[in-house]
Amino acid sequence: MAKITLIQPDDWHLHLRDDSALATTVPAATRGFGRGIVMPNLKPPVTSVAEAKAYRDRIIANRPEGSNWEPLMVLYLTDNTRTEEIRAAADSGFIYGCKYYPAGATTNSDSGVTDIANIGDVLETMQEVGMVLQLHGEVTDETIDIFDREAVFIERHLINLVAQYPTLKIIFEHITTQQAANFVSSAGDNIAATITPQHLLYNRNHMLVGGIRPHLFCLPILKRDIHQKALIKAAVSGNKKFFLGTDSAPHTRDSKESCCGCAGCFSHPAAVELYAEVFDKAGAMDKLEAFASTNGPDFYNLPYNNTSISLKKESWEIPSSLPFDGSEIIPLAAGNKLSWRLES
Ligand SMILES: [Zn+2]
Repeated sequence: MAKITLIQPDDWHLHLRDDSALATTVPAATRGFGRGIVMPNLKPPVTSVAEAKAYRDRIIANRPEGSNWEPLMVLYLTDNTRTEEIRAAADSGFIYGCKYYPAGATTNSDSGVTDIANIGDVLETMQEVGMVLQLHGEVTDETIDIFDREAVFIERHLINLVAQYPTLKIIFEHITTQQAANFVSSAGDNIAATITPQHLLYNRNHMLVGGIRPHLFCLPILKRDIHQKALIKAAVSGNKKFFLGTDSAPHTRDSKESCCGCAGCFSHPAAVELYAEVFDKAGAMDKLEAFASTNGPDFYNLPYNNTSISLKKESWEIPSSLPFDGSEIIPLAAGNKLSWRLES
């Protein structure tokens, strides 16, 4: 196979940051994708319909000439989110989900929910109006080892949440473990998961053996190879519950290569190709379109894109560094050779 054509994919989880960063992150996010779910963890976070509208306008202003890429906006849930805001979001026509961050779990999550019990009425309303809940599924309990935080979240919170809100649509974001893949597979059709390229391509050995590689540090953190294998199996299975969400998150080189480096991988410069490498290696290129282009819209009840992309078999190298907002950024898999390339 020298070329493959797909319905245009979408990215169901990404970070753009704000202001001058948008000049880099927005064009990067449009590369290969028709739409993107834009995470709301700005400082301060996007917690209202009005803030989401203003942020959307700033994003659109940075879209490349002629691009029809569509930002799908998200509200950030806090202990103080009101049910009226959820209803207004559902009516807005541009908000497609609400994000739950346990307070303190990841970048700019300090305003997140301190206890799921605090947002019971909000979840009830989301269930009623069909608003998707996007979950960062990790506990923040400091006594729990960082490698176990996702699995413990399932046991302590997710099982109860699903039982309490049986028709709430939940996306377990950026899953990293066999336990999460199994949980989602065996749950009802209202539960799905996104998977990042880094969790499919790497395990914690890649990050830690022979020297620490800060550009592979992300949250939830890379796990053992058995988990990586379980995620690959889920992604290439064709199961409609699993779909593409890069979690592409820009941090400057110096904020990653630091004594206290930031979590996040900037994968947009080669996102579609990085996934293609995984599917090709697994002998499952025929399942790439479901994962990248149709499972996500099916879950969100949105039409497929009426455009397409082609990938051709061609060796190329991901840039080792890119300019970013007056500084420099190191993309995921910088300097690596890929065997598939997006046709422009
Ligand atoms: Zn994220």
